[in-house]
Amino acid sequence: MDDLIKKAAKDLTGAKMVAALTGAGASIESGIPPFRGKGGLWEKFDPMEVAHIDSFLQDPVKVWNLLIKGMKDVLDQAQPNDCHKGLARLEELGRLQTVITQNIDGLHQLAGNTDVIEFHGTFASQRCMECNAHMETRRVDMSEIPPRCHCGGILRPNAVFFGEMIPQEALWRSRQVATDCDVMLVIGTSAVVQPAALMPVVAKESGAKIIEINPESTLLTGDISDYLIKGPAGEVMKDILAQMEKML
Ligand code: NAD
Ligand code: ZN
Repeated sequence: MDDLIKKAAKDLTGAKMVAALTGAGASIESGIPPFRGKGGLWEKFDPMEVAHIDSFLQDPVKVWNLLIKGMKDVLDQAQPNDCHKGLARLEELGRLQTVITQNIDGLHQLAGNTDVIEFHGTFASQRCMECNAHMETRRVDMSEIPPRCHCGGILRPNAVFFGEMIPQEALWRSRQVATDCDVMLVIGTSAVVQPAALMPVVAKESGAKIIEINPESTLLTGDISDYLIKGPAGEVMKDILAQMEKML
């Protein structure tokens, strides 16, 4: 473990361009449950089903009540953890250019990263299904479900539901970043949601080193990733940063 921390610190220090790909695991230590595995909210129902666009279109009231309202409560309270802070510090040190995130919680930006590609959109705003007007989530009146726009249209999160397309710009830029980087940190993602899981493959094929941080092995482990640092994202990032600061 210590050896791998040292190795990662060395790889990050020696790289010309570093990118990070983060998934739900990066925000677990901020109290936000992931979709797969143990924990809270999602054990009561199948998020894959509830978070599918077809479910929302069929029954927006149900999806608002089961998923979106609870999500808002959790995200309202969430603060960046040592993983987000470590990635922000890496950028400050000039050792990280871009974060590609599958998360919609906005915590990377809150921690201070300036180039964050939100692969699955954001929960920070809602948009009207009728007139496409955007509204900050914190300003949305939740006293009636589903909340509505001034025009009467139903509001939906500005995030990607399962079954929907990735925003073109995010996909295009992520591919570019994956192609250009020479180290990619893959943090807290089970790498089963496509096409996000393809980015480490693109990076690897373009010659990048892939460093995984995750308490579990994933579909990438041993095949696409060069090595896996097994552990919670916050703790591992903190150790890597401490090691890097020693090397400065
Ligand atoms: P996932 O739920 O499929 O997988 C989570 C991964 O995190 C697993 O591999 C698990 O081993 C790992 N993990 C658990 N604890 C960890 C820790 N302390 N540190 C690091 N890793 C840890 O998540 P996913 O691959 O991101 O895919 C699910 C989809 O759901 C994503 O597309 C994402 O958009 C969405 N989602 C987002 C949020 C959020 O915005 N915070 C939360 C839940 C789900
Ligand atoms: Zn409207």
